[in-house]
Amino acid sequence: MTISESDKLFLTRCVDLAQQALNAGDEPFGSVLVLDGEIIYEDRNRVGGGDHTQHPEFAIARWAATHLSPEQRAQSVVYTSGEHCPMCAAAHGWVGLGRIVFASSAAQLQQWLQELGAPQAPITMLPAKEIVPTIDIVGPVPEFAQQVKALHQARRF
Ligand SMILES: [Zn+2]
Repeated sequence: MTISESDKLFLTRCVDLAQQALNAGDEPFGSVLVLDGEIIYEDRNRVGGGDHTQHPEFAIARWAATHLSPEQRAQSVVYTSGEHCPMCAAAHGWVGLGRIVFASSAAQLQQWLQELGAPQAPITMLPAKEIVPTIDIVGPVPEFAQQVKALHQARRF
């Protein structure tokens, strides 16, 4: 697994966004869309209103479909605090986005949530590579995964 200094900067921003989500009473997830070394779109989880499809990676896919050419989408990179869920991985694939770099994996999240006594997710959290096998996917990144774990430990269930 190769992580560059700029990858670390973008993952830091994802963790910041996850912290913002937590501060707003939402689940701690954050993601950024990077093209040519610049963040061009970012979002955090917004499921607190009751719509559990409001994940940042899904918002990124929809934004990219509207605002970027197919070539730009393929060149872009999605950084995220937590590995794409199957819904978001599918949206990523359908829209034709490029590389994925995640701080913590879906398997880690499942383990942490189980330890914390959180309710079961209503879907099977397959690894993103099973949904989009041709996409270059990197993660988890231990130093960032620990930060994400701390955010989940601060949640109330
Ligand atoms: Zn998702």
